[in-house]
Amino acid sequence: MSRRILVLPGDGIGPEITDEAIKVLQACQRQGLDVIIDEGLVGGSAYDVHGEPLPVETLDKAKASDAILLGAVGGPKWDDIDDLSKRPEKGLLGLRKQLGLFGNLRPAILYPQLVEASSLKPDVVSGLDIMIVRELTGGIYFGQPRGIEERNGERVGFNTYVYSASEIERIGRVAFEMARKRDKRVCSVDKANVLEVTILWREIMERLAEEYPDVELSHMYVDNAAMQLVREPKQFDVIVTGNMFGDILSDAAAMLTGSIGMLPSASLNERGQGMYEPCHGSAPDIAGQGMANPLATILSVAMMLRYSLDEPGYAARIEGAVGNVLDDGLRTADIAYPGTQRVSTSEMGEAVLDAFAR
Ligand code: NAD
Repeated sequence: MSRRILVLPGDGIGPEITDEAIKVLQACQRQGLDVIIDEGLVGGSAYDVHGEPLPVETLDKAKASDAILLGAVGGPKWDDIDDLSKRPEKGLLGLRKQLGLFGNLRPAILYPQLVEASSLKPDVVSGLDIMIVRELTGGIYFGQPRGIEERNGERVGFNTYVYSASEIERIGRVAFEMARKRDKRVCSVDKANVLEVTILWREIMERLAEEYPDVELSHMYVDNAAMQLVREPKQFDVIVTGNMFGDILSDAAAMLTGSIGMLPSASLNERGQGMYEPCHGSAPDIAGQGMANPLATILSVAMMLRYSLDEPGYAARIEGAVGNVLDDGLRTADIAYPGTQRVSTSEMGEAVLDAFAR
């Protein structure tokens, strides 16, 4: 049976970069990949048409698809919407929640051709290949009770950091399974010296490790993990952590690779259904100018083929094609430096297609 892919271009540079990614998907189709590609509205563009950032029609299509490719949402045009539930980012959060996308995979890979783009010294980062597995639907971002209230004549803000054993176990399994396909090492990041919830986190990870004797488990406090990421990032293989720590560490890891325009991500649920998107936002400052780097979105297609459609062959060919265009010296503005050939969004997309077909 054909698998269904829903493309949600979103706002800003979203439509430009997803156009290029769709062309790559269509090239796979022409070579035998059996998928049906549909499109929908999300974010500000959906709000403009339906008055909602996540229209029912889009949600229904998303639920019926095997995988979703999302561009990006948001932009100044919608920053003044008073009703927060109508803001573009609510479309994204709604999709994550409604589909139960609890497992966020964020690879930080440094392409050898881009080693000069990193803020760290080449010998510290060259060959970097880390996978951060972040819990996405729980933890302090969602815990109850939360709020701001008056206590003893003073305003007090509070949130609740909570994880159940089952939530920890399911994200732990994603990390251990992932490590099995890589260098077989998981580093669990917590703050077990201070926070009870992460004492439980550590206990569950220890218990899970018994089921994965081929994978080496280590633990690290989050403050040390932040330090180690910039000191000696190559020591890590898979990092697994909760929602907030993962939010911060994965952005730091992303920057080690030099350009946010190169980084894909995946968010998976228990059925293997996934949403794939570049790590960056809608870049309103360059939208419509043909300057955006489409490679993060194209690499998100590769992740989709690998993790939701079980097509590692096509995934590897797309990743190889991206490597080839970088070898050829082609660069969008964000990764260009003297001696390379500056190309537009669509020229970069075309070059990947050519390399894919070779
Ligand atoms: P951003 O990631 O959109 O842009 C940050 C900087 O990186 C900008 O200078 C931009 O031009 C550049 N950039 C980003 N992607 C690029 C690409 N593919 N090629 C070349 N350069 C690129 O972050 P921001 O400026 O903080 O946010 C802009 C909007 O995006 C906001 O409305 C924000 O809410 C939204 N946003 C959406 C998502 C998402 O949809 N997942 C994530 C983050 C931010």
